[in-house]
Amino acid sequence: MSAIFNFCAGPAMLPQAVMQKAQQELLNWNDQGVSVMEISHRSKEFIALTQQAESNLRELMEIPDNYHVLFMHGGGRGQFSAVVNNFLGDNGKALYLIDGSWSKAAVEEAEKLAGKDNIDCINIVDTVAGKRQVSVPDLTQIDKDYRYVHYCPNETVDGIEIFESLNSPWPVIADMSSNILSRKIDVSQFGLIYAGAQKNIGPSGLSIVIVREDMLALPSLTQSSIMDYRLAVANDSMYNTPPTFAWYLAAEVFSWLKSVGGVAEMELRNIEKAKRLYQCIDQLDFYVSGVAPQNRSRMNVTFQLTNSELDSKFLAEAQAAGLVALKGHRMVGGMRASIYNAMPLEGVDALVKFMTDFAAKNA
Ligand SMILES: *Cc1c(COP(=O)(O)O)cnc(C)c1O
Repeated sequence: MSAIFNFCAGPAMLPQAVMQKAQQELLNWNDQGVSVMEISHRSKEFIALTQQAESNLRELMEIPDNYHVLFMHGGGRGQFSAVVNNFLGDNGKALYLIDGSWSKAAVEEAEKLAGKDNIDCINIVDTVAGKRQVSVPDLTQIDKDYRYVHYCPNETVDGIEIFESLNSPWPVIADMSSNILSRKIDVSQFGLIYAGAQKNIGPSGLSIVIVREDMLALPSLTQSSIMDYRLAVANDSMYNTPPTFAWYLAAEVFSWLKSVGGVAEMELRNIEKAKRLYQCIDQLDFYVSGVAPQNRSRMNVTFQLTNSELDSKFLAEAQAAGLVALKGHRMVGGMRASIYNAMPLEGVDALVKFMTDFAAKNA
């Protein structure tokens, strides 16, 4: 089989080295004679794995000691409900910033659980000269008492990323499902960070939650036990049987990240990958990006063909060249190349070459 580069937005490709290691030890993990899938989550071997995973993630993200790291069920959307259930008891109110599809979906879930009256929203995307851009209002000027402000720093569907940090008088909750570990962030600026695993961490189903200790004192709604942060903390994320295989793969991804130079090195690579791809889009009249340069996602590069009648030809020929899953989300159309940490520079170079040739042939 010749090389395939998989640009799927999620579940996304995983680092090849991790997949090869998992394959090698699939039937006999850690000299146990059985698969990691077939052992107790409470065995000392598995607990050692979880401890190593947590300490590696803490090191990679420089997570301060007053934060808990949780490995939970239910992916990204599970956390849309969990944050409401855990922090909006007794009619507490929250502010949601909307910069694309996922932050909008988070609002819908919050309104359903907490009631519309308790959820305020601000749309933070404008279109200026045909390009979408983000402007975050000065939150310190808002004279209201919110339990938290929720936002999504990388909108996976829309290809919009927010690089500046929020200046907020309330705890900031961020959905980092599609850009966690892609660049350095200052964890201490957040009340809570969550991420579904299947973009930049591992297989779907698992979500990572990084929560500041004092957040756990906020009043919670009556809720399902498996979404309760306090129970998850008290039980080391093992209140019930966790998704052990996904946890194992996440642990392997963290080790891989460390071995290749950590988040600082990833950030350099991600900047370079995104630069090459956006340069190609900007230089050829054949393609157009609908996002202003300062808010272009480094992880999800959305673009259109100026002649959309060529979309299906583009996708078919890309597929034949081993460049797969480039179709944009059904809600926005066009193309999307997701270039998470696991995507090597060669994948981006192959895509740029294909796009350049395609434009020349079809001009
Ligand atoms: C993928 C994604 C989600 C949803 O994740 P699920 O695991 O499918 O629930 C939420 N937020 C963002 C930013 C995402 O990219």
